[in-house]
Amino acid sequence: MDARQERERVLLDRLRDERGHRVVLVSHCLLNENTRYTGGATRRGAVAEVVDELVSAGYGIHQLPCPERLAWGGALKRHSLLLFGSKGGVLYPMRGVLLRVFLWWTRLIYWRLARQVARDVADYERSSIAVSGIVGIGASPSCGITTTLDLRASLDVVAACPVAALTRDVMNEQAVLSCRREGEGLFIRLLDRELRRRGLTVPALEHDLTAELRGERHSVLSAPPPRTLGS
Ligand code: SF4
Repeated sequence: MDARQERERVLLDRLRDERGHRVVLVSHCLLNENTRYTGGATRRGAVAEVVDELVSAGYGIHQLPCPERLAWGGALKRHSLLLFGSKGGVLYPMRGVLLRVFLWWTRLIYWRLARQVARDVADYERSSIAVSGIVGIGASPSCGITTTLDLRASLDVVAACPVAALTRDVMNEQAVLSCRREGEGLFIRLLDRELRRRGLTVPALEHDLTAELRGERHSVLSAPPPRTLGS
């Protein structure tokens, strides 16, 4: 231990306080459903039971950025709305090309965000604060841990549905829940890679979006983490 580290150790020892030295990284929309896809917010603000569970267990909550808000045109994700009800219009025949460009752009923004989050994890670890987990969102094309969305199939549903016939039910049941598939979201995949590059690991938990949409309560801490990012 060098002189600077020894001085830091003495200072921290003298100023020891109540902090628990454990944080959980939480997907943005669990604390702020205003960033959810349109039709997918079931609460006015936070998913309180998840927050309560983490607070009761003594974790600090680190809110992750919402990747889709930052890559897809703000809180309303306006870029993704372009193809809604587009069947029969000029954009529809170009949807394959548009999706490829959209995914290229998404990967670029998500990679930058993933690098920043990996740096945040490294900072916590250097500061003797354990990053005890990350809570992703099931069925999300961005934040899914074990389940994600077949984006092409989902876009086909919203493109083919006339705007006048589009309802929350169509959106949630047909464009989201029916288009779920096993796998991870794009942001989680890139975060996994950035953590591995730095030799960091974080247990990954998944909030059950299906249960939330059906009005059921779901505990994120009751089962062991299904996977570990960075391993
Ligand atoms: S799942 Fe991820 S990308 Fe989607 S709204 Fe929540 S934080 Fe944003």
